[in-house]
Amino acid sequence: MKTKEAPDPIKKLFPSVTEKEWADWHWHVKNRITTPEQVKQLIKLEESEIYDCKGNKLPLSFSMTPFYASLITENKVLRKAVVPTSHEMVMSAGEEGDPLDEDKFRPVNNIIHRYPDKCLLLATDFCSLRCRYCTRSRLVSENMNSHFPQEKIVEAIEYIKRTPVIRDVLISGGDPLTLSDSKLEFILSNLRKIPHVQIIRIGTKVPVVLPQRVTPALVKMLKKYHPLWINIHFMHPAEVSPECEVACNMLADAGIPLGSQTVLLKGINDKTETMMKMFNALVRNRVRPYYIYQCDPIPGSKHFRTSIKTGLKIMEGLIGQTSGFAVPTYVVDTSKGGKVPLLPNFVKKIEKNYIHLEGFTKETTKYPTIED
Ligand SMILES: *Cc1c(COP(=O)(O)O)cnc(C)c1O
Repeated sequence: MKTKEAPDPIKKLFPSVTEKEWADWHWHVKNRITTPEQVKQLIKLEESEIYDCKGNKLPLSFSMTPFYASLITENKVLRKAVVPTSHEMVMSAGEEGDPLDEDKFRPVNNIIHRYPDKCLLLATDFCSLRCRYCTRSRLVSENMNSHFPQEKIVEAIEYIKRTPVIRDVLISGGDPLTLSDSKLEFILSNLRKIPHVQIIRIGTKVPVVLPQRVTPALVKMLKKYHPLWINIHFMHPAEVSPECEVACNMLADAGIPLGSQTVLLKGINDKTETMMKMFNALVRNRVRPYYIYQCDPIPGSKHFRTSIKTGLKIMEGLIGQTSGFAVPTYVVDTSKGGKVPLLPNFVKKIEKNYIHLEGFTKETTKYPTIED
């Protein structure tokens, strides 16, 4: 990535940071911001924003990259997703550590296999930033370099090898792009040797929180393992930074189809215009919006969750109003039925020879149908 100086608020925290360090993803991982004192130097805290990370009081520890910290100093909304608040201490009805009952579908430790022909491989338990609403917060660990022991990865690959129904492997975690090139290549190359594995995908937030990680060397390595797809977790239009755009374009230039996944979050992205701005920015960068997720009921998540009605209203505000491929699918992930897509109700009435459909103009068309 082209070197660029760290912005001023960051230099207050890291006075000696050089351009070279700012451009180096290892520096960002090593210098993650994890204490209240550091954050206080960056932004003025609100009363609900608390940090008792050490006393194990928070359901999830606090961590963000200096790069993401530079974004939160510029946009007030983004901090809601990373800075712990007292609301996290409040447990509400229906909240569970494993709300999707995923632990029932783990034939070996590092595989979640709940759909017929695809599975999730947990490649690492490390993320460079802790999203407060993380659906797999129970699986995210504290320390870098703790990444899973090699035997666990080998065990996961062996499971896929002996399970020929699997044609799609989703490498997730944690954030797989925080692994070294060689550790990631070990996984990709071994999966590629399995004849029934047709596609490989990676789920990551790295282009957003650690865009420096997308190096020419990484991209060159990834390219060897096509067809490879990457899905990136985006939450807000302000996350589409110039650095993130460079990272996405490098990946897209390597022929990797990019998708986005977004969690619907109260007060952060629960407005049609916010979502549309983000999706339009994404398609400009060749990232195809894939899913909007209803926020899962993990412990202490009530302040993040919206009603389903809010999600449906956003979908209604997108469909027909912008490019079709800038509109993702709105899904609710369920413990028994997996992801369930939801759409606003466009069908107003069904008659014997007609269906009444209401489109984006809000006008109803009486459309002729026939019996099969
Ligand atoms: C979401 C998910 C997948 C992938 O589902 P797609 O709808 O194909 O993107 C696979 N495994 C698990 C456990 C998942 O939660």
